[in-house]
Formats: sequence, structure tokens, C-alpha cells
Amino acid sequence: MESILVSGGAGYIGSHTVRTLAEQGYRPIVLDSLVTGHRQSVSLDVPFYHGDIADSDLVRKIVEIEQVSAVIHFAARSLVGESVEKPDLYFEENTAKTNRFVSALLQSGVKRLIFSSTAATYGIPDEVPIPESAPTNPINPYGLSKLMIEQSFAWLEKAYGLKWIALRYFNAAGAALDGSLGEDHIPETHLIPLVLKTALGQREAISVFGTDYSTPDGTCLRDYIHVLDLANAHILALEGLATGVGSGVYNVGTGSGYSVKEVIETARFVTGRPIPVLESPRRPGDPDKLVAKVEKIQTLLGWTPEHSSIEQILQSAWAWHLKHPNGYL
Ligand code: UDP
Repeated sequence: MESILVSGGAGYIGSHTVRTLAEQGYRPIVLDSLVTGHRQSVSLDVPFYHGDIADSDLVRKIVEIEQVSAVIHFAARSLVGESVEKPDLYFEENTAKTNRFVSALLQSGVKRLIFSSTAATYGIPDEVPIPESAPTNPINPYGLSKLMIEQSFAWLEKAYGLKWIALRYFNAAGAALDGSLGEDHIPETHLIPLVLKTALGQREAISVFGTDYSTPDGTCLRDYIHVLDLANAHILALEGLATGVGSGVYNVGTGSGYSVKEVIETARFVTGRPIPVLESPRRPGDPDKLVAKVEKIQTLLGWTPEHSSIEQILQSAWAWHLKHPNGYL
């Protein structure tokens, strides 16, 4: 059984990936600082190391003890607004610490890595759907912190033979289908959890940030991808690298966009509850449309989304919110 080290395995996407790895016959090992992750989101059957990716001694020890053959690297800060206020924090926590993490992995002989990247590497796109070949001009330090990592990997590949795939996620959403794992960010800033907290009555209304975008209903279009489909993309990427797929960047999305108003309307249908809306000013830095071109991952990794209809995303997220109205607490 292959042992896969998952950094950030107690986070939102990490915890779903850990569970999917175990279901598919892998042996996941988690390294998480628990700064933003939740210990309860990882089964007690999974080896769990509470620590930092920049602790090179710990990383080398884990690789040796657990016989790690490949890594899925999620651990990162991921709040765009916070990154604008504290860019140095993001360049340290994401970029610098990943460099130390990958150096320790390479010293220990681990050369296969899947990296959690983001559509924020593109910035404001000239072309939608966005192909992987589009220019990368991030408009916030979060996107830049991830882009610098991707770029560093090309040099680590040349020098040391690192094999890597960076998955540029569009809008991760949804939850385990039985609502047993889900999204629990503090503070929560994402649309779908905030819409569902409004349906639960925990918030008075959902603010719609901008109704004058150049989209059919004036609200922003995003490409929502179910967290279980994302988890599967990581596993296919691991397997692809093992069987000769080249290193590189891949979009992970569905290729379809939904507007903020469509998401809210579907949430009203799925929950059967009223969801009051407060039309609000635009949020700085939001492009009108972010939709992935997805041919590359479909063709080269054989990935297709299975759970990413907007209804299933909202149904699974609603199951999570009903079971865990206060998150993992
Ligand atoms: N959004 C909104 N109200 C909110 C949170 C988000 O209208 O309370 C909008 C946001 O402007 C964007 C879309 O919903 O157009 C998705 O935002 P989210 O923060 O979930 O993800 P992002 O696209 O920023 O990664």
C-alpha cells in the first residue's frame, strides 16, 4: 500500500482528499499545523503529525518512518483579503515554507508532488473559459504566493528531478455526500457557506457583491467544483505522474459558470428556506467571470467531474450545515 503524505490534511479540501485516498486503497499520512485545520476532520485511523511544513527535521522523520512515496501539498493560508493586508505573511507561510518543505522532501528522496494552486494565479482574464496557457498576472498576494511556488517547481525539476503537478482550482465547494465532512473556515468569506448560514437563520441576509457586472444577470459568474471531484483530481494527478504524465499546471473546474443569483436561487430550492438578499457594492478585485477551460485535465489525466452539478454541490453542503450548524466545534 502506497503511503502518501498530505500536508494540510485537516483542512477543507485536504480532509476530503485524505478520506478519498483511504477509500481508494492508499495510506494517507497527515501533517497539519492546525492553525486553520480541524483535528476532528481526520479519522483517528490516519497517522497524524501536528507540526509545520517548514520543520525540516520533522518532515524528514515522517518520510522515513512512514515510508512516504509521494506528497499532496495543501497546507497554506488562503484568504485573499488577509493576503492584501499582510502580504509578507503569505510570502512566508505559502512561498518560503513550501520551498523549505520541498527541499526536505527532495533530500529524503521524495520526488513526486501534487500542489494545491489556484485560479487566482491568472488575475483578471482576457479570455473565458481560461486556458492554462493564459497569462498569469495575479491581482493579490495570495495568487502571487502560489504562482511563485509553481514557477519554483520548474527549476527544482531541472536541478533535482522533482515531478510535480499544480492543480489550479476554481471555486471549491460542497461537502461529503453524507454531510460528515465540510467547509468550516474562520472567518467564513465564501459565498456558498454564507448563503447556507443565512438559510439556517444564523445571518439575516446574504450580501450580493455587485449587481452591475457584464454578465447576464449582473452578478459574478464562477466555476464551482465539488470538493470530492477535486479530491479525485489529486489522486489522478499522483497516478499520472507515476505513469509518465509530464509535470505542469492543470485547471480543475467544470467549464460552466453560475452567477451569484443562480447560486442563491438554487440554495432556496434545495433548502426550502427563505434566503434574504442584500444588494451590496462590488467587492474589490472580483473579476466578472472566472470559468475554467478543462480539456487538459480531462484529456491527460482522464478526469471528469461526477458531483459538480450546482444542485449536488448545494445539497451536500446543506447536509453538512444541517448536521454541523457550528462547524467542527
Ligand atoms: N460573494 C457575494 N457575497 C458574499 C461572498 C461572495 O456576493 O458574501 C460573491 C463574490 O463577489 C464572488 C462569488 O460570490 O463573485 C464567489 O465568491 P467566493 O468568495 O465564494 O469565492 P472567490 O470567487 O472569491 O474565490
